[in-house]
Amino acid sequence: MTEEKGKTEQKTDIKSMDYGELDSVIQSLGQKSFRARQIYQWLHKNLVTDFEEMTNLSKEFRTQLESRFCIRSARAVQRQISSDGTAKFLMELNDGNRVESVLMKYHHGNSVCISTQAGCRMGCRFCASTVGGLIRSLTPSEMLDQIYEIQRTTGERVSHVILMGIGEPLDNFDNVVKFIRMLSDEHGLHISQRNITLSTCGLVEKIDALAKERLTITLAVSLHAPDDGLRREMMPVAQRYSIGQIMDACRRYLEQTGRRITFEYSMVDGKNDSPRQAQKLAELLRGMNCHVNLIPLNAVEGRMGRRSSRDRVEKFKLTLEKNLIDVTIRRELGRDIDAACGQLRNKNKGGKLHESICEN
Ligand code: SAH
Repeated sequence: MTEEKGKTEQKTDIKSMDYGELDSVIQSLGQKSFRARQIYQWLHKNLVTDFEEMTNLSKEFRTQLESRFCIRSARAVQRQISSDGTAKFLMELNDGNRVESVLMKYHHGNSVCISTQAGCRMGCRFCASTVGGLIRSLTPSEMLDQIYEIQRTTGERVSHVILMGIGEPLDNFDNVVKFIRMLSDEHGLHISQRNITLSTCGLVEKIDALAKERLTITLAVSLHAPDDGLRREMMPVAQRYSIGQIMDACRRYLEQTGRRITFEYSMVDGKNDSPRQAQKLAELLRGMNCHVNLIPLNAVEGRMGRRSSRDRVEKFKLTLEKNLIDVTIRRELGRDIDAACGQLRNKNKGGKLHESICEN
């Protein structure tokens, strides 16, 4: 049977197979188990994009693999570099859908923010990613490839990964959990689960399901309001789950995993940024092992709100601190290239490869 090169649809996505799955497939082809280890390492450690590069396999076996499997799931087709060094990548998937990923450089290492879906159906009123609704969820390999492409094209080693790009990670639960396990697998990039943060708008049943997975990742919950009325105005998902239900799920998560929870709070001018609201938030979180991340809103054209002034943000922070709540104001990276929180969009199909550098 011959298959055209590049016609990847009928071929199996080899990079979405975890180590165990790959092992059984390779054995079913009549090969020894150590071949699976070699292939897994080529794919997930050496980040090759072609079976031809797997030089410790016979030519015949490489041809056999090539006829059955495809390697690439995402390609970086555009890169924009911010004045602060942050780089935003436009990633094209095999079906032409496009998502965005961001590389941020910190003292503690390089962090990549990945998308988990093309589009999003959560509808948060201030966020750009949800404007066209959900197109589809990404496969494990499409999430892995965002990191692999960045590592390959920049030569930078990625040490931290955050699931805060386009999409709601817990709305793509199985693929996301598999992705996390593969990313932290010792045969692959072996990124510590402690260096992985998953951000959710607060899908209660899925938070419970995640706790059962016994991962050691950090869970970040997008709260954004201290009361249900306001939260419903900002986030349609708040119609489904009350803050009380989310807090209970967070407590269960903490109890089961021992991992401190982060609460994200995007600050919208005159909406959720008063000292009284800070006090209310403090009362909500009192006694809980958690951390609050204040994100001054990145205003998106056509979406809700303006950003709170620095002064309002500082006062809000102070009120939380007086209540002994651990709080930071998120450092803003990549704002000039629309790579900051809530600014990532799903891009239409088409377009050609080019690089643009933004330096204002
Ligand atoms: N769906 C996930 C992850 C995506 S966004 C979630 O809701 O958590 C990551 C964070 O950026 C979330 O806290 C999100 O609410 C926030 N965010 C979205 N749009 C924003 C904007 N315009 N300005 C600041 N933060 C924003």
